[in-house]
Amino acid sequence: MPYAPKIGDPIEVLDTPSMVVDLDKMESNMRKLFSKFLPTGINIRPHLKTTKSATIAKKLVAAGAKGGCVAKLSEAEVMCGLGFTDLLITCEVVGKVKVARLVELFRKHREIRIVVDSLKGASAIDDALAVAGIEGKINTLVDLDVGLHRTGVQPGEAALTLAQFVADSSHLNLIGVQGYEGHLQHVHGDEERKRLCLESMAILTQTADAFRAAGHTIDVVTTGGTGTADFCVTVPGITEIQPGSFVFMDTDYRNAIGAHYEQSLTILATVLSTQGPNIITIDAGLKSLTTDSGLAECKTRGYTYGVLGDEHGSLAWDGGNVALKLDVGDRVEMVPSHIDPTVNLFDWYYAYRNGVVEEIWKVDSRGMVQ
Ligand code: PLP
Ligand code: MN
Repeated sequence: MPYAPKIGDPIEVLDTPSMVVDLDKMESNMRKLFSKFLPTGINIRPHLKTTKSATIAKKLVAAGAKGGCVAKLSEAEVMCGLGFTDLLITCEVVGKVKVARLVELFRKHREIRIVVDSLKGASAIDDALAVAGIEGKINTLVDLDVGLHRTGVQPGEAALTLAQFVADSSHLNLIGVQGYEGHLQHVHGDEERKRLCLESMAILTQTADAFRAAGHTIDVVTTGGTGTADFCVTVPGITEIQPGSFVFMDTDYRNAIGAHYEQSLTILATVLSTQGPNIITIDAGLKSLTTDSGLAECKTRGYTYGVLGDEHGSLAWDGGNVALKLDVGDRVEMVPSHIDPTVNLFDWYYAYRNGVVEEIWKVDSRGMVQ
């Protein structure tokens, strides 16, 4: 019989490495976030770069989200194809090939929102929509640098000039401002993260007000991630937050913001070999667990993970004699250090409750980096 895990199977039938989701924990994370933020009246537009799944996107909407964010145009193409079309593409759409793809996407899906941070980028999209004979305007936000120094026009004159350009264009509809403070998401200590976040929010809301003073209608002021959303929602003038990682969490986020949300996603792995009395080797290496934000953690206490290459990882035993010692064939659960790029390593989620696979979801926009 070919390997084909199905709903109703115990998770023991899953081969390893496999990406598994504890549904109780994931649902609890969603409940926590939505019960906290929905009463504030702020729009919750979760970033789907974390989960990359139209099924989870729809669960988020059922919980109270309005729309979603994607990082890249190719993610938007996939999500639209799966019927999820209320999307903000949070990265600039730049380059002839990509702009041509955007025109085709917008032809079919009028809800798409884009960001621009340069006159050159904005005019290329405006021109392409005009040349293609597209009726109507694409909803556009000015992307503002609020301190991350990744993308975003500089606040002040440059931002005002860009807003005016968008407002004057034939095919771009200025609806708002995006200012993402990604450099603050993992600042340790709530007080420090809050202080820095409020500084970034001041830049963002002052810019939105300056746009209004110049005569523009600014309905959307969007920002925030899992680490800062609590602070963003307290700032008058912020209309929307974009958290993503809270659905699954990771150890990097837990170390920064605490354990408010639970680690709902783990990678199941198998012990392949023992190497001396205190080291064992598992079948999860760089192709299963990313290391940019530190090393994954093993849920079996007393073991510390190390990378042994593409396909292998080590677990060093430092727990004395108090806990179970793992042996060849045993299975472990590894908690990722950085959730977004880890999810991007797998094709499928196996979501379970009480040890039984309850749902299987495709990682729909896996690999969509264009
Ligand atoms: N918004 C933007 C523009 C992002 O790039 C990200 C993540 O990198 C997020 C929101 C979501 O942040 P998080 O996954 O930290 O909640
Ligand atoms: Mn990330």
